[in-house]
Amino acid sequence: MTGADVRLDGDATVALLATVLRDQPKLPRALCAGDQDTFDCTDGAQVQRAVALCGVCPELERCTTWAAGQRQLVGVVAGKYYRHKEWK
Ligand code: SF4
Repeated sequence: MTGADVRLDGDATVALLATVLRDQPKLPRALCAGDQDTFDCTDGAQVQRAVALCGVCPELERCTTWAAGQRQLVGVVAGKYYRHKEWK
């Protein structure tokens, strides 16, 4: 069985979504809000653009604090590029 074969019942789905949403930072002024494509990137120019946007983001300090507590990050988060999933 692969991960794609896993089926969740209604209660398990709700519990999983609650966990995911609970772990999301509350950053209402985030420049990345609604712009996942810009920050979920791998191309050098795109990464530089996303890092630059983080540099002027009003939520940078809070985002950096949140990111420090995460076990895995991908793409550009808080002005830092995570090439692969990094485990702390
Ligand atoms: S610092 Fe970057 S990743 Fe963090 S909220 Fe701002 S734009 Fe998004």
